[in-house]
Amino acid sequence: MENEVTFAPSGRVRCGVCKQEVEGEEWINHIQKEHDYMATIEGIPPLILDDEQEIQTHLNNIRRYVRELVCNKCGETRKGVKSYLKHIKNCDGNEVSS
Ligand SMILES: [Zn+2]
Ligand SMILES: [Zn+2]
Repeated sequence: MENEVTFAPSGRVRCGVCKQEVEGEEWINHIQKEHDYMATIEGIPPLILDDEQEIQTHLNNIRRYVRELVCNKCGETRKGVKSYLKHIKNCDGNEVSS
């Protein structure tokens, strides 16, 4: 799986960030809730969080898979990567407006 990014791996996987083991089908939920999607499976090179291009690419792949990016604080969804990043940066957990 060199260049293939999977968000529903089979079997259990270990999170490269918090080292927790999660079921493959729970993986996407795990990174959404715990890491604002900013995590990779252990064994895959970790994300470089100050590399904006890399983050964009990563989130774009996820968005293609989940359709909408969900804020883990308030549950709001964003279709665009840029607006999602802007939202999670400013979200205080009880935002009602966009
Ligand atoms: Zn984790
Ligand atoms: Zn939010």
